[in-house]
Amino acid sequence: MKKENMLNAALKNLELTAEKIRLDPDIHEKFKYPKRCLIVSIPTRMDDGSIRVFTGYRVQHNMERGPCKGGIRYHPDVTLDEVTALAMLMTWKCAVVNIPYGGAKGGVVCDPKKLSGGELERLTRRYTSEIGIIIGPDKDIPAPDVNTTSEVMGWIMDTYSMNVGHSVPGVVTGKPLSIGGSKGRWEATGRGCVYVSLEALKYKKIDPKKATVVIQGYGNAGSAVARLIAKEQARVIAVSDSRGGIYRKEGLDVNKVIEFKKRTGSVIGFPGSKKISNEELLTLPCDVLVPAALENVITKENASRIKARIISEAANGPITPEAGEILHGKGVLVVPDILANAGGVTVSYFEWVQSLQAYFWSEEEVNQKLKKIMVNAFNDVVRVMEKEKVDMRLAAMMLGVGRVAEAARVRGLYP
Ligand code: NAD
Repeated sequence: MKKENMLNAALKNLELTAEKIRLDPDIHEKFKYPKRCLIVSIPTRMDDGSIRVFTGYRVQHNMERGPCKGGIRYHPDVTLDEVTALAMLMTWKCAVVNIPYGGAKGGVVCDPKKLSGGELERLTRRYTSEIGIIIGPDKDIPAPDVNTTSEVMGWIMDTYSMNVGHSVPGVVTGKPLSIGGSKGRWEATGRGCVYVSLEALKYKKIDPKKATVVIQGYGNAGSAVARLIAKEQARVIAVSDSRGGIYRKEGLDVNKVIEFKKRTGSVIGFPGSKKISNEELLTLPCDVLVPAALENVITKENASRIKARIISEAANGPITPEAGEILHGKGVLVVPDILANAGGVTVSYFEWVQSLQAYFWSEEEVNQKLKKIMVNAFNDVVRVMEKEKVDMRLAAMMLGVGRVAEAARVRGLYP
């Protein structure tokens, strides 16, 4: 899907949901538009002494249920439409897991691989200063996304704090632990995905100990899913990265694969495994398929060949709408991204709460609270799915949009 179409697709999804829940047309009209879009120029001193001006965005879609929350991505292809669509998705995602936030997203058009550490830091600090007029711990709390790290979050926290004259750890999440980050944040997306995948297995009456799992993408989300689902004694039979996939019928030792990738840069060549392509990997027979890499990898071209019984979308948007219909027709249970990868924003919420209180939790406490939220959200979505006889994606949207609509209704329209 072209990026320009991402916003159209988000609006189309909203329209389908609105019809289904008989959304008040006035509230629907309001939800179609972001509350605020800020476009900023970011003049940055380059290492050669020259100044380059980058473009940055921060879009706040909705604040009806609380302050806005959403990541910041650094990528050459970032567009205002893409950032707006992702901000809207964040609104629904926060509502599905029932955390008190609205949705936002930010982005800077740049290629961080072509910037030095110093250039990246100066760009981040100036961008933070420019969007400083709309972010804040009770207004809008950024987080990491594509190509932004905990180090970048640390610079954001420091710059905002310098501008207001005191430390404000609650302005951003995904920070290093030493300045108020949360334990468990870095594996939270994968962990949340495993919690809902285990619920999905239970729903399909499949014993996790007998389940086979296939994972596309072995980065932050994918490798955490592999490690944590293997702990439940499920058999991870195939994993992949951008260079291709590896397969072993008897199951892979996922921790050794993580070490191997760290050492060699790829999963390819892992001893005892057979090399397969990413396309072959997607169509392997398995109980749970976890796309954890890119968007639009399951399309109308390959959907009919998918043999998984459950798909848990760790990545954002890995299945196109047409493919989604084909999979639903085949009886595949698709746990949609706004539920399956909501563990990241949930532990970001925990980090914000801890930062505001300056009181920090143990990793066990974080994981326990995450499990409760993810399992409750899964069951809430299943209830809507069964009652309304829709697929899980539409059920999650109905739940999320319905919750935001209820907040909008009781708050009323200002003035
Ligand atoms: P990452 O960069 O850590 O990992 C991405 C992985 O995908 C890497 O192993 C990479 O090699 C692989 N990959 C890249 N191109 C590929 C290709 N063509 N085929 C197969 N594999 C390929 O990223 P991440 O943080 O794990 O994010 C992955 C997905 O999860 C993204 O869609 C992201 O938006 C989503 N997500 C992540 C988080 C989070 O907290 N990390 C939260 C919500 C959603």
